[in-house]
Amino acid sequence: MNLRCLSCKRTYPYDTYRWRCDCGGVFELEGAPGFVKDEIETGDCSLWRYRAMLPVKYEGGIISLGEGFTPLVETQVYGARIHCKLEFLAPTGSFKDRGTAVLVNVLRELGVKRVVEDSSGNAGASLAAYAARSGIEAEIYVPAYASPSKLHQISIYRAKLVKVEGPRERAAQAVQEAAAQGTYYASHYYNPFTLEGLKTIAYEIWEQLGWRAPDNLVLPVGHGTLLLGAYRGFKDLRTAGLIKKSPRLFAVQSNLCAPLYEAYQRELDDVFPIEKGQTIAEGISIVQPVRGRQLLAAVRETGGTVLAVSDEETLCARDELARRGLYVEPTSAVAIAALLQLRGLIGLEEITVVPLTGSGLKSQAT
Ligand SMILES: [Zn+2]
Repeated sequence: MNLRCLSCKRTYPYDTYRWRCDCGGVFELEGAPGFVKDEIETGDCSLWRYRAMLPVKYEGGIISLGEGFTPLVETQVYGARIHCKLEFLAPTGSFKDRGTAVLVNVLRELGVKRVVEDSSGNAGASLAAYAARSGIEAEIYVPAYASPSKLHQISIYRAKLVKVEGPRERAAQAVQEAAAQGTYYASHYYNPFTLEGLKTIAYEIWEQLGWRAPDNLVLPVGHGTLLLGAYRGFKDLRTAGLIKKSPRLFAVQSNLCAPLYEAYQRELDDVFPIEKGQTIAEGISIVQPVRGRQLLAAVRETGGTVLAVSDEETLCARDELARRGLYVEPTSAVAIAALLQLRGLIGLEEITVVPLTGSGLKSQAT
């Protein structure tokens, strides 16, 4: 396995401490295992049922908190029949645990003892928990405005919490300075191993729908790691000859911070930073996703689109979902809000999956 730069194609050994290429490009993992149906460990009710398809070689036992294999629950919202994938039931309350679990097992294999990470909350809480589980020291840089319950969660796992005043991007700058001192940057958006963990959501959806791909996947997008992970997972299933077609990917952003939406509307191939407003969808408040080019390509290739919704629509959608017994954070509800705009695009007979990415219990009362 190697890390390959998506911009200049240069490769690096996968155990490097580099978090991006010298040219500034982002890495993808090259030589990761593909999907083999007969190698699913069907007795394991976590994402480790796909262990043979994950880039973890470590033989000393897997570090796990039982992540993955979340329920798929059917409901109707705004006249659309959808299957909700309950990612908020993950060990730390968000989908991030899929990526973190795989990353932490790779880190153990590499002998990494200390990591830094920046996050608006959920990724930091996830890394803090798995670091605690595996005896790795973690330092998490968060914007000072992050939800108090997410900050509390990070510190209760005994990670060192560094609050950074100002916009989300300041926390990213601060962590990059710390990484420059030689500490491993366990970034949930730069590090390609997290995408490897996130691809398992596609495998699970395929199994849970009776070995078939859905027609549509609608999901919130900030850095877009879940979208790219799902895209990769469905691609693996296609390569293995198990599905004919990947689902259409519908990326949803807040209209107060919508760089992907703008790039898509302007028919660009890459995403450029935008001026953002303050949105209640704090988990996707990202002015420039580092894998923007890949996101645009994945959406276009699958025949999906990019949508943007307002905070008002998001809160209404959050409440609609709660009336059906499902309590999510506002960031997750943007995907539900987008169903109104997707009415003409999604047929009534089609199968649509919406991952409910984060728990309502961690969000501020709004
Ligand atoms: Zn490069």
